[in-house]
Amino acid sequence: MLVLGIESSCDETGVAVVEATGPGVPVLRAHALHSQVDMHQAYGGVVPELASRDHIRRVLPLAQDVLARSGCALPDIDVVAYTRGPGLAGALLVGAGVACALGAALGKPVLGVHHLEGHLLSPFLSRDPPEFPFVALLVSGGHTQLMQVDGVGRYALLGETIDDAAGEAFDKSAKLLGLGYPGGPALSRLAEQGDPEAFKLPRPLLHSGDLDFSFAGLKTAVLTQAKKLGDGLEARKADLAAATEAAIVDVLVRKSLAALDASGLQRIVVAGGVGANRRLRAQLDAACGRRGVRVHYPELALCTDNGAMIAMAAAMRLQAGVQEAQPLYAFDVKPRWPLQELAAA
Ligand code: ATP
Ligand code: MG
Ligand code: FE
Repeated sequence: MLVLGIESSCDETGVAVVEATGPGVPVLRAHALHSQVDMHQAYGGVVPELASRDHIRRVLPLAQDVLARSGCALPDIDVVAYTRGPGLAGALLVGAGVACALGAALGKPVLGVHHLEGHLLSPFLSRDPPEFPFVALLVSGGHTQLMQVDGVGRYALLGETIDDAAGEAFDKSAKLLGLGYPGGPALSRLAEQGDPEAFKLPRPLLHSGDLDFSFAGLKTAVLTQAKKLGDGLEARKADLAAATEAAIVDVLVRKSLAALDASGLQRIVVAGGVGANRRLRAQLDAACGRRGVRVHYPELALCTDNGAMIAMAAAMRLQAGVQEAQPLYAFDVKPRWPLQELAAA
């Protein structure tokens, strides 16, 4: 079974072909990605209308490229998958419209995928795929959640952020430090030259006794420090970046360990853009190594949004029999769609 997947929920257009044969983990044949980051940079954030229009320009050339590199033609595709939500309505509609048009033209069924399920299952695309059950730390630009994952479509929320997401905390702090947008990767690079102990920044909800997160106060603390430094900020920027990264990572690691304790599981999967963060990987590996807990990550290139994770999630849902692809000629998107509402059957 060949699944063509299309991602267009925000500012990345992604297309991929995944092949599922038998009960084995589906395999990525090829994927292609266009990031709109350069286009949105001038505005300091994603401009929804520009995003939708760019998805329209990119999606078909990307699909042609992926098909060529997959060694297959459009009629070989068995199912067309697309990101149904959550995300920007206009951007989602581009991927959904193209997927359903392809499905109708080819006479093939289509399947709408939950974007976060895509992130969640993206480590199955790695050379070291996990096995169920596991704890998942989902850390992206819009979400920060700890989940217990017992199988495809079987997700129990253990805790989540009550305000900003971890990626948002990276991006907003980076913006305060003048590092552009999205500044997470830039802040992380600068942090490598700084001293994480140079400033004392808050670790909100660290001892709250539950598995929830809060990052909004951290950004205010960074702003306060930056103001206090005034003209001296430039010389201490790397230190402040390092302290910010350390505060975020510290909370993510400690809550992940608490989630492992609460669930009694010995395996954790990290997914979403912040999963690319080197400090997070190093600290989590060290802490889990001491406990004999296995940690799985997506490939670095597949931490942020991509089409491969959407094709993969669709293939795994079909393989597990939790969903059937539909011959759809009408479709919808769900800009707001909590993962807990994703029915297993
Ligand atoms: P969502 O999936 O919740 O809708 P999103 O799709 O925008 O949000 P992702 O693409 O998964 O999120 O991740 C983007 C986020 O990851 C951004 O906030 C970005 O700053 C952050 N990020 C990417 N690389 C790194 C890194 N090395 N260190 C820290 N943050 C990073
Ligand atoms: Mg993005
Ligand atoms: Fe995402």
